[in-house]
Amino acid sequence: MPARTGAKRPRAAAKAARPPDPALRGRAAAILARLAKAYPDWGPTLEFSSPLELLVATILAAQAQDERINQVTRGLFHKYRTAADYAAAPPGELERDIKATGFYNQKAKALRAMARGLLDGHGGEVPSEMDALTKLHGVGRKTASIVLGAAFGIPSVAVDRHVARVAGRLRLSRATDPDRIEEDLRGVYPKKDWVRATWCLVLHGRRICRPTPLCPECPVIALCPYPKKTKPPRATPRPSRPRAGRGR
Ligand code: SF4
Repeated sequence: MPARTGAKRPRAAAKAARPPDPALRGRAAAILARLAKAYPDWGPTLEFSSPLELLVATILAAQAQDERINQVTRGLFHKYRTAADYAAAPPGELERDIKATGFYNQKAKALRAMARGLLDGHGGEVPSEMDALTKLHGVGRKTASIVLGAAFGIPSVAVDRHVARVAGRLRLSRATDPDRIEEDLRGVYPKKDWVRATWCLVLHGRRICRPTPLCPECPVIALCPYPKKTKPPRATPRPSRPRAGRGR
């Protein structure tokens, strides 16, 4: 057995070390079928019409609601049409344009640096490879996976806080590290289902399997081993009638 070095485990080696469990795959498929039926609107809730717009919207969406981001980007995408527009935005102007998304100084800095990366390394275009995307400033695996899956149609699993929570409760993954959760989900679902599984888990986490889950309303309750399921609210007890004839 090779000695453990403490170095980051290569993805290929991790996959080979744990062959997919057929029972888990079967349960995962049943969960996905029910979630897809419950959420026929699965897919990104950020509005975009190009890979650049989705990349920008996803960066802006950190610590903010998608609805708020859509309100901002409807105007922003008219004004900033190319990577060069973001890179050349005068100091203070881009900040003002994205102020409503919160953390606007950091986000404007990230957008400018990301846009410069696109201009310097990719002719201003958004690359369609994970490695190239994650080399851009402010772009991690989650953002890259969202862009690959939704803008390029390339199978990918994106792990946000909702996916992590739901995958854990449904025991699709026992990991807590997003990279390991991504590996596990890529193991239990066939490639063709990676994007659909991502968005179904996201919507389930937003709508039902919230931090305090709404288990009685859950479409996959019968397939869920989570031990702390919430119970239906108890019926309000009827006020008791005063007893007659028992005075002191
Ligand atoms: S039963 Fe509850 S904990 Fe399990 S997936 Fe559904 S909402 Fe989440």
